[in-house]
Amino acid sequence: MSDKLPIHIDPIALAERRSVLTGVIEMARLERLSAVVIDSDVDVCIEVSFGKQGKHAVLNGNIQAKPVLACQSCLQAMVFPLDIAFRLAVVSSMDEADQLDIDYEPLLLDGDKVSLNTLIEDEILLALPDYPRHDDDCISQRVSKDANYVESSPDEGSNPFSVLAQLKPNLKKTGE
Ligand SMILES: [Zn+2]
Repeated sequence: MSDKLPIHIDPIALAERRSVLTGVIEMARLERLSAVVIDSDVDVCIEVSFGKQGKHAVLNGNIQAKPVLACQSCLQAMVFPLDIAFRLAVVSSMDEADQLDIDYEPLLLDGDKVSLNTLIEDEILLALPDYPRHDDDCISQRVSKDANYVESSPDEGSNPFSVLAQLKPNLKKTGE
């Protein structure tokens, strides 16, 4: 897992060679994702196998990471473990993407290289929930635990709603 990952990849050439890329990307280097998580000091482990499916160059990938999100009920941190499998077929036009007859998502290649980080980041953003929530009933637990805290005067600096306000515009961008 110590292989140095390339920043830009040529998926067609990698498919011809049946290459496999394995390594770790620091989440802090994924800007859009860093804007949505609470802690970007997290490793993203990836493995991508390149090959051919009919006339298409294809990628079979796996991503494992444990991003820390803000629970939308209690606004506290929650770890959201990801284990994503993705299948992409390289296409050079939207027409080709529409006509894709294999069970892969189209990867539109504009030029001959794509950013590996962007590709991985897109897959992670797609997999994140719009409204992450703790599985348990975190709100009522927190209210009973913080009964004394609620009595005290609110501290503007640590107002959890200001965190939410910062998160929302960033979350919207992920819907692109
Ligand atoms: Zn919660």
